[in-house]
Amino acid sequence: MSAFSIYVHFPFCKGRCPYCDFVSMDVDVIPTERYLGALLEEWSGCKMAGVEREPLSVYFGGGTPSLWPAADLERLIRALAGGAKVSEVTVELNPGDADDEWFRRLVGAGVSRFSVGVQAMDDDRLRWLGRRHDTEAAARAVEMARGSGARSVSVDLIYGTPGQTCDDLAREIRMVCELGPDHVSAYELTVAPDTPLGRRAADLDPALPDQDAMADLWLAAGSQLEKEGMERYEVSSYARPGHESVHNRHYWSGGSYVGLGAGAHGFDSGGDLMIRLVNSSDVGKYMNGEPAQREVILPLDHARELVMLGLRTREGVDIERVSRDLAPEIVKRWRRIAEDIVNQGHARFEGETIVPTSNGMLLADTLAGKFF
Ligand code: SF4
Repeated sequence: MSAFSIYVHFPFCKGRCPYCDFVSMDVDVIPTERYLGALLEEWSGCKMAGVEREPLSVYFGGGTPSLWPAADLERLIRALAGGAKVSEVTVELNPGDADDEWFRRLVGAGVSRFSVGVQAMDDDRLRWLGRRHDTEAAARAVEMARGSGARSVSVDLIYGTPGQTCDDLAREIRMVCELGPDHVSAYELTVAPDTPLGRRAADLDPALPDQDAMADLWLAAGSQLEKEGMERYEVSSYARPGHESVHNRHYWSGGSYVGLGAGAHGFDSGGDLMIRLVNSSDVGKYMNGEPAQREVILPLDHARELVMLGLRTREGVDIERVSRDLAPEIVKRWRRIAEDIVNQGHARFEGETIVPTSNGMLLADTLAGKFF
């Protein structure tokens, strides 16, 4: 396998947020020991299959990884990256779960980045989102993360709840930036149909914002975050220079990664075939050792995925290289599509790389659809 990252999924939460369709379950007692055993076994299977070198980055996501005892995380970090020079180790956390000792132990084990699920700096919106914490707990969590000695602290925000205005969002962003994060991920609220919120979405009053209102909120978020000294480097991601996520950038550029845990995905682009591995999202089956589903990715599909991901980033995507390497039959057609996008003012060429304008980034999914 070429340079690779590792994603570890912790699929347990305290309660279920009404909009969530991630792989996660609400259990009274988390089977931490059994789950840790299953992860270590999966990792040892990866090593036997030839994953030998040190990872570029490790990311613990969920679910709620902050419900994981520090001792388990320490053990996992040692197993996955012990002694290796890993560029970045990130752990996601929810406010209210972790204390100073948890942060201190994780930084001691090699964690360099915390991603705090603040989601909102407004208690009414937090309640509406079904979150377990309030703004005070959110501020405390960011403060502890910053005081832990980790290199970077990121916060997640969700915008687009009913009735939220651009001014409201700008005010929340000002409040969050006063806490001093190095990175902010601001996500539009997406409501999957098969969730409690999805089932009552049509009856909400006030209603969820429409596409135009969401676009206005996205613009407001970008402009406020830029005033706070953050630069947008992906459609939802903002960082102070030097604090961009190594792990996410590797993923967006089509790099290989190992996915460990229930519902985790892996991708290997280094061999003769490009392979996607998908673990069972049934936690019980995963812990009982159900093998991952293996799927061969066709070069043209991978090329389209790279375009889709690249058009969401500040770096854009080298259309010429991607099409030439993966699907030479479409080089000319893709060049014409890219020229049209540039002529419409949604992107510019930097050599053969098509770089989206701010407006183009907002339309990234629509623009990517032209290459399908
Ligand atoms: S904490 Fe995150 S993963 Fe858990 S239910 Fe809420 S949104 Fe989903």
